[in-house]
Amino acid sequence: MKKRILLLAGGQSGEHEVSLMSARSVLAALPRDQFDVTPVVISKQGRWLPPTGTQRALETGEAAGGGDLVLHRVASAEGYDAVFPLLHGPMGEDGTIQGLLTLAGIPFVGSGVLGSAVSMDKVMTKQVLASAGIAQVEWRLALRREWRDHPEGVTARAAELGFPLFVKPANLGSSVGISKVSHARDLQAALDLAFSLDRRVILEAMTSHKPREVEVGILGNDAPMASPVGELSFDSEFYDYETKYTEGRAQMHIPARMPREMSERVREMALHAFRALDCAGLARVDFFYVEETGELFLNEVNTMPGFTTTSMYPKLFEAAGIGYSELVTRLVTLALEER
Ligand code: ADP
Ligand code: MG
Ligand code: MG
Repeated sequence: MKKRILLLAGGQSGEHEVSLMSARSVLAALPRDQFDVTPVVISKQGRWLPPTGTQRALETGEAAGGGDLVLHRVASAEGYDAVFPLLHGPMGEDGTIQGLLTLAGIPFVGSGVLGSAVSMDKVMTKQVLASAGIAQVEWRLALRREWRDHPEGVTARAAELGFPLFVKPANLGSSVGISKVSHARDLQAALDLAFSLDRRVILEAMTSHKPREVEVGILGNDAPMASPVGELSFDSEFYDYETKYTEGRAQMHIPARMPREMSERVREMALHAFRALDCAGLARVDFFYVEETGELFLNEVNTMPGFTTTSMYPKLFEAAGIGYSELVTRLVTLALEER
């Protein structure tokens, strides 16, 4: 019997377009002799589009018009064996959809409510991983209300970290709303931007030297495996949205250019973080590597990483001998597995 899969894409976050790109690849790759796949695009307004609207959105990237409220749709999602919530950012990767599917009793690809919610929030991630003994850069939390009522308290926290520092919305991805702040005079604009996107903002110190960025893929549930380590290089100040999504701006190196013992450490730390955060199915765990000192800092855990055929996560597993089609098939199998 073929498995019926509901593939959710688009969604309400700033990563709507990225999700559509990933969905096109996954849709083309799920083996049709095993799976019967129905895509549903969620518009930026949170409406679940009917088949015609979904088709149009996948072809043109334009998710417009009509659609149902989520609650109407989940009732009709009952006939599916599994859902692949290929959504990034808030209302997709953060435990909200996962909660809905859990309530509806439908298995789904990826982490559950807890792992998704904690990993989406950069502050919660840091707190959990600190208690798991994982090295991270220094950071401070600020709330929108504090920034409005007591901005001097927030700027004092930034001063403790020193410049340059990074200002980020706590719950986003694809570098949306992130600024590298090199001078105190640029702090206000960076905080205004981050607070326009989130109630919680994280301030982060930079490592002493410009770090290299290495990433590792994790696949599995309670006995997960780690992929080889990959590395990104680019000329821009940091790995911002443009660098991420403009062809040719960033280069991928698989395996990462680092000593073997170091990449083994990366893989172990990534597995440790995956377990500490109670992730499931898949995650891409990203690190800063300071070559000069040999230090490794865990940056973040993405529970639904970019998933086009040229994205880092599938490329890392390809290097481990698991091709794209096999990878998505395994993810669905993991979703159906008893834990
Ligand atoms: P996102 O979830 O949007 O990818 P990240 O926390 O990964 O957010 O930040 C995006 C990019 O910003 C990183 O890949 C890196 O290039 C840069 N960056 C973020 N925080 C730091 C930091 N503390 N030190 C150096 N670079 C950073
Ligand atoms: Mg991220
Ligand atoms: Mg990142």
